[in-house]
Amino acid sequence: MYIYDIIEKKRQAQKLTKEEIDFVVKMFTAGEILPEQMSALLMAIAINGMTDGETYELTKSMQSTGKTLKFAFDTIDKHSTGGVGDSTTLLIVPVLACLGLKVSKMSGGSLGFTGGTIDKLKVFEGYNPVIEEKAFTDMLQKIGCAIISQSNEIAKADKMIYALRDRTATVDSIPLIASSIMSKKLASGAHIIMLDVKYGLGAFIKTKEDAVKLAKLMVKIAKKDGKKAMAVVTNMDAPLSLGVGCNLEVYSVLQAFHGENSSLLELSKYLSAKMYALATGESFNEAKKKVTEVLASGKAFAKLKEMLEFGGANLAVFDNPDGLLISDYVLKCNSKQGGYITGIDAYKIAKFVQHLKNETDNDKQKLRCGILLNKKIGDYVQEDELLLKVFSAKKVKQEDLEMLYDAFTFGEKNNTNHKLVLEVIK
Ligand code: URA
Repeated sequence: MYIYDIIEKKRQAQKLTKEEIDFVVKMFTAGEILPEQMSALLMAIAINGMTDGETYELTKSMQSTGKTLKFAFDTIDKHSTGGVGDSTTLLIVPVLACLGLKVSKMSGGSLGFTGGTIDKLKVFEGYNPVIEEKAFTDMLQKIGCAIISQSNEIAKADKMIYALRDRTATVDSIPLIASSIMSKKLASGAHIIMLDVKYGLGAFIKTKEDAVKLAKLMVKIAKKDGKKAMAVVTNMDAPLSLGVGCNLEVYSVLQAFHGENSSLLELSKYLSAKMYALATGESFNEAKKKVTEVLASGKAFAKLKEMLEFGGANLAVFDNPDGLLISDYVLKCNSKQGGYITGIDAYKIAKFVQHLKNETDNDKQKLRCGILLNKKIGDYVQEDELLLKVFSAKKVKQEDLEMLYDAFTFGEKNNTNHKLVLEVIK
């Protein structure tokens, strides 16, 4: 078998066999296929696509380049395809653990402009998400939940392939995204998987149609592998929480635990209830009641602290949440016009925050960089009223601020119909 022939076959939009896919993945991971050859194949896949069968084989091949975790009990995991201000994990995980599920959440770091749970966990100093399988199992048994980092032992091929995709404009290919995500999810050992597939300005997938396609494909792969799975297609045009940036997102999570209404809280409750219903067979309405109860009673909040403390974190953040709002520079930005906020472009906000982080090499200061919105979509803002605060390591340049202001659109009426959940795929 020759890689040259396989590239040519896919260039001609032909279907690859399981053997050919296995060959490519194994040889590339072993360093025996050149990056330029793999890049050419990835581009051919990005242009000509793959059948669902090919994508399944690619997923399984990638999974087999690393370890697959095995638990003696059923566990549940969730995955978001990546968003802005998307910290639902920090709410959902303790909620479900309080309801008796074992939540084995395997997370990644930030990818491109989107945020990653592993980076946000750095806000809780001392928490160690890099643990062995035995310690992971122990934590699940004792606490009921654990958020751990995707180890390098999992789907090794994905890291190498993703790095090439990132450099060759092949990130947004549906079969490549599906196989990348699902190879890691299948290897994480969870029996039940919830996929939050995001579309819109602040997501990798820009259209509803592509998000639905990706969601269906990932659910199909999970089910073919014997998992219980569901996908929810959700809108990612505007940041989910008022805070964007690690410290500020954790601040928003703490506010949500204390009942502050936001898209973050709404989606976290929705996904928790869907996951609980999927795992137990109870109705969504019953599940939603239980979720609301563990949040309102403070049990879920206590569970988050318990999990973090067990994982080695000191809980200083909980004693002084306002400490999360400290940075070298804090700039208040007032609205240049009055009106209803009809849009907040999550991509522009995320790129601005990414830029703030790039301005410093200090890891602690990177955590502090971000913005905290004072208004959300549908709110009325008066001219010169506080719109947001910027937290940075250096003084923000006027031209960068213009980019930030550009993220907002205004209207005379509150006619936004910002629907968070578009479709559920079982
Ligand atoms: N997340 C992943 O893990 N892989 C992708 O390709 C896109 C999002």
